[in-house]
Amino acid sequence: MSKVETRLYINNEYAAAKAGETFLIINPFDGSHVADVSSAGETDVDAAVKAAEEAQPRWAALAGTERAKIMRCFAELLRKHTPQLAQLDAQVMGRPAHGNTEGTGSAAIFDYYAGLGEHVHGTSSLLTPGFINLSVKQPFGVTVGIIPWNFPVSSFAFKAAPAVAAGNSIIIKTSEKAPLSLAYLSQYIAQAGFPPGIIQILHGGGKTGQLLSEHMRVRKLSFTGSTQTGRAILIASAKSNMKNVTLELGGKSPTIVFEDADIDKAASSCAFSIGFNSGQVCIASSRLYVHDSIHDSFVEALAKAMGQFQHGNPLEAGTTMGPQADQAQAAIVSKYIGIGKEDGVIAYGGQDTKNNFFQPTIFTDVPHGSRLNREEVFGPVVVIHRFNDENEAIRLCNDSEYGLYAAVFTQNVDRALRVAKRLESGSVGVNCNSPVTANDLPFGGWKMSGMGRENGPNGLAPWLEDKSMYVKV
Ligand code: NAD
Repeated sequence: MSKVETRLYINNEYAAAKAGETFLIINPFDGSHVADVSSAGETDVDAAVKAAEEAQPRWAALAGTERAKIMRCFAELLRKHTPQLAQLDAQVMGRPAHGNTEGTGSAAIFDYYAGLGEHVHGTSSLLTPGFINLSVKQPFGVTVGIIPWNFPVSSFAFKAAPAVAAGNSIIIKTSEKAPLSLAYLSQYIAQAGFPPGIIQILHGGGKTGQLLSEHMRVRKLSFTGSTQTGRAILIASAKSNMKNVTLELGGKSPTIVFEDADIDKAASSCAFSIGFNSGQVCIASSRLYVHDSIHDSFVEALAKAMGQFQHGNPLEAGTTMGPQADQAQAAIVSKYIGIGKEDGVIAYGGQDTKNNFFQPTIFTDVPHGSRLNREEVFGPVVVIHRFNDENEAIRLCNDSEYGLYAAVFTQNVDRALRVAKRLESGSVGVNCNSPVTANDLPFGGWKMSGMGRENGPNGLAPWLEDKSMYVKV
């Protein structure tokens, strides 16, 4: 059993859920009991909101440089504890610990937003005679981040860092599947210097998330998770206080591989995209459109690249693919492999292995309307389609309700940019899949993959309200 403090982190103190409810964490690799974690109910949610509400005005009144100092200190602690965070996530959701640098990546996110928070500026205008007009940016107040299990630490950082840099307080609701890395990290919140109530960590499942999304005194909610839950959160917000909502949702990301692409490089990039974190990645390239003339050689190269993944204990070096995060997730992958067997042809893999592991799998000859091709699997399963013509490839890529990520492989720069422009998605990789950094660019989805943007140079904007002041002179 883990030694991590698994009670709720409210007002810089640990407290068991008032109703005494807990939930179990089971290691998906060996079925062992990892921890019992407190599950926040209504009283706990109210206590956290009250603490957040009381603390936030003093936090907002600090100089940006003072907030930044605390954030940078927290970033250092995150960096230092990267291996411990990776080991905890390996135990709870099977992600290989070796090479998991979510801690250092998340530290960079805190550093980045610490810097942005030192430069929050509004505008002024003298265009209206008799007035000096000012526009200032102010925090929302109490904010909430509800996060998924597939990248617990970076999902936390993507929300907490900009929220507090902008002068908000934030309550993070961890995922019931992977709360331990953030439970562990909570001990460094006070140590870094965050006052009580500024970053609070609540554990619990959908019910806890629902209490937060319906809460009348929460003014902004940023959610990362499935499209289905995103819809429920939007409805909850509409029915309560119409809190500002940002949604980062699911995907069914397409990749086009043209006949002039470097086949081996494209195949190894696509293999990594669908195999990394056992395919449990929102931007995983799960639909591949390959030019007819290179189809067979590409399938062969992709199978070879997929064969490089090493199944094993996620805590051991050498393991590059762990099990699915839990039995429920494994059952979903199994279901979609079943659909693929009915609707198409297995070109590689396809076998369930023991302990929630799956062989990376390639399907071909799957109709475009098949559920395997339209729905998010969240496992190492890819569908390959043939195309002959650029317009056809673009039309097929865009024939999806999702629009989170897409990629194009070609050595023709004109074509790469022309195609990237026409793909209906929030991000497009050119000769690469899946890189996301918080610092350079905004991230988010088109269509049913999301609403609003996070990250990038304007990443503080979603956490700030504008106020216009009309000053008569
Ligand atoms: P999920 O929607 O099941 O759960 C996400 C979070 O929402 C969890 O903390 C859960 O407890 C909470 N929740 C569940 N029901 C709720 C409700 N009714 N009200 C409020 N909160 C509720 O998603 P998941 O299985 O944890 O994560 C996988 C999904 O997340 C995939 O669809 C994936 O594509 C998506 N995802 C998207 C991004 C992105 O940036 N777009 C990143 C990572 C994951």
